[in-house]
Parts: sequence; C-alpha cells; structure tokens
Amino acid sequence: MSYNIPKTQKAAIVESHDAPIHIKDDHPVRQPEELAPGECLIKLDCTGVCHTDLHARKGDWPLPSKLPLIGGHEGVGKIVAIGAHTVSSPVNIGDRVGIKWLADSCLQCEQCRKGLEQSCAKAKLSGYTVDGTFSQYVVSYVSHVTPIPPNLSSEEAASFLCAGVTVYRALKYSKTNPGDWVVIPGAGGGLGHLAVQYATNAFGLRVVAVDTGEEKKKLCLELGAEKWIDFRESKDLVKDIKDAAGGDGPHAALVSAASSSAYEQAVDYLRPGGSLLVVGLPGKAQIGAPIFWTVVKSINIIGSYVGNRQDAREALEIAALGKAKCYLALKPLSALSEVYEGMEQGTVVGRVVLSMT
Ligand code: NAD
Ligand code: ZN
Repeated sequence: MSYNIPKTQKAAIVESHDAPIHIKDDHPVRQPEELAPGECLIKLDCTGVCHTDLHARKGDWPLPSKLPLIGGHEGVGKIVAIGAHTVSSPVNIGDRVGIKWLADSCLQCEQCRKGLEQSCAKAKLSGYTVDGTFSQYVVSYVSHVTPIPPNLSSEEAASFLCAGVTVYRALKYSKTNPGDWVVIPGAGGGLGHLAVQYATNAFGLRVVAVDTGEEKKKLCLELGAEKWIDFRESKDLVKDIKDAAGGDGPHAALVSAASSSAYEQAVDYLRPGGSLLVVGLPGKAQIGAPIFWTVVKSINIIGSYVGNRQDAREALEIAALGKAKCYLALKPLSALSEVYEGMEQGTVVGRVVLSMT
C-alpha cells in the first residue's frame, strides 16, 4: 500500500516563547525516503490540546523545549509510510494509531526494562523535544505509537493518549481500594474529567470533584462525582474536603490542576495512609508538604508521569468499553491561540480537540 504524500502542510509553529503562534500552510512534510529506520509518517485526523502544550508554548517548565516547535501530543491518524530497513515493526502502513507525549525511548535502559520508559534518559517527547501533532503530518516511532481500538472514533480517542493514560496510571498506582474516596482538584479540566470517570467506573472509587464554575460542576456530577466543591467559593477547603469524604478525608488526592495552590493543603485533608498523586505540573513550583504531618499521617507522595505503552492500551480499552468518554469541543487548528487563552483563564471545560483534515 502506498499513499500520495504532499510536499507541504498546515502546521502551528512556536517560533519563540513570546511570539504569537504562527499557522503556516507551507510547512514541509518529511517524505517517506527521508524517514530513518523505526520512524513512521502519520497523516493526522485530529489532536487534543493538553495544558502541557500551553506550558511548552510559554516555556515555563525547567526542561527546555526545542525551538521552533510544533506542539501537540494527543494525535490520532493513519500510518502512511514507515522508514526503510525498519525491523520487527509492531504496526503497519494503513494502521490507525495514536501519538503520545512519549514519542520514543531506548527500550534498553533500566527504566525502559522496568516499564518506566517515560523516564528513560533518551526519551523523545512529542511536541516538546521533537515536533508534535499540531500539523497535518507527523513523524513518530513504530515501537511507541499506540493502536486505536476500532470502535472509538479518532476524536473520541485523541485525549486518552495523554489525559486518559495519565490519570488512569495515577489511579492504578494510588494504593486505593474500591469504595475509597478520591478528591480530584482540577476535575473539570482535560485530565480531571477523565479521572472522575476512571475513578468511578474502573476503580470503584467515590469522587469529590474540586474545580470552579457551574458548567464544570454540572459535568463532574453527570460523570459520576458524588460531591462537588468550588475552590473559589470554599472558605475552608480542608474542612470541606474532609466533610465531603466521610469526615476523615479522602484516601487519595489526584491533583490535576496546573496551579501550585491546588497542592497546598493536600497533606492536611488526606486521611492517614492516604496518597497524594502528583500529576498537575505548575511551572517551577514546590509541593511544600509539612514533614511532621506527612510522617505522622504516613502520607504517600507519588509523582506520576503519563504512562507506558501498556498503560496506554489499558486506558484506551476501558474507553472502548464506554466506561470513560471525552467531553470535547472540536475546533480547527486556527483556533489554537484562543484555546490557550481559554485554558489560561480556566474556561475550557473538558477538552478541545483540533480537526487536522
Ligand atoms: P486543564 O486546563 O484542562 O485543566 C486544569 C483544571 O484545573 C481547570 O479546570 C482549572 O479550572 C482547574 N484548577 C485550576 N486551579 C485549581 C485549583 N486551585 N483547585 C482546583 N482546580 C483548579 O489542564 P489539563 O490539560 O487537564 O492539565 C493539567 C495539568 O496536568 C497541567 O499542568 C499539565 O501540564 C499536567 N499534565 C501532567 C501530566 C503528567 O504526566 N503528570 C500529563 C498531562 C498533563
Ligand atoms: Zn498532555
């Protein structure tokens, strides 16, 4: 099978962290003969916009990104070419696959051997250290792209490749049991609204959703949260969260907000033995947990970074069963700057997915 591949494409380019995003119509497409072994060219149907893309656009993380940069790491599309001399490819031309934050890793080091490939020292990150999915064609790596279950549309699947897999993995390693309470600060956002559904439908947890505004409240309660707290209205967040989670506080807190204030009181409201799942990534912030209470309450502080290839398959499989659905607005690539503005102001409910066709 071979596809007609154009020489140029539409792409959203970050030229520098303070310049406006530049949408180009004539960005070159890497041609099949230019692909290295192990690389594949994917024609994208769509891509989700993650708050991480906004961090990359602003350059507010301690890890430098490439510049100029094409952001994006929740892409779904079809493989249209595979580099010559690629051996043992787990995917074929014509397959529909997803592109995750982790574009590639060495698969040989200790972290890769242990399934912690996202922490490989040679990791390539889509839309950060290599160009990502805010373009019609993207180069990715056969060993790391994720097959998409046939009964999920590309739009439905996109945000599971980052938001979905991230919260699924965080909950998987949360040391909770069915029936336990989890509080989710950031519950109305991209990661958070999927976390509400994995928590209730896959892990049997009871959810206290924390975010702000009527629309996010309605969404979180519809998706299965039992309790809602508006962080802007609460006068005493620790008391409100403890009360909502049966008086003793939740067994876990999955913080999926991009602000450090969402972490501040977690050790105070968590139940003894509880887990703080560190997921949201505000710029250069510190957690600042009180040592005394962290020890005396036996609190687990667990950093959780996206997920490995197996986590991604599991997260998508659960979505394919209808147990988690992305609440999304479909927009054109030209809307990217306004999506970032909305994210900054906290007005994006669920996820925005960009159509790339
Ligand atoms: P988003 O903008 O869609 O959602 C964030 C939500 O947090 C918004 O609904 C906002 O209203 C809410 N919020 C802000 N301040 C809050 C507070 N003090 N308390 C409660 N809620 C608050 O963002 P997203 O795409 O879901 O990403 C969230 C964060 O997770 C970003 O920092 C992103 O970089 C990070 N992230 C981490 C990983 C990982 O591997 N750990 C993976 C993906 C994204
Ligand atoms: Zn992401």
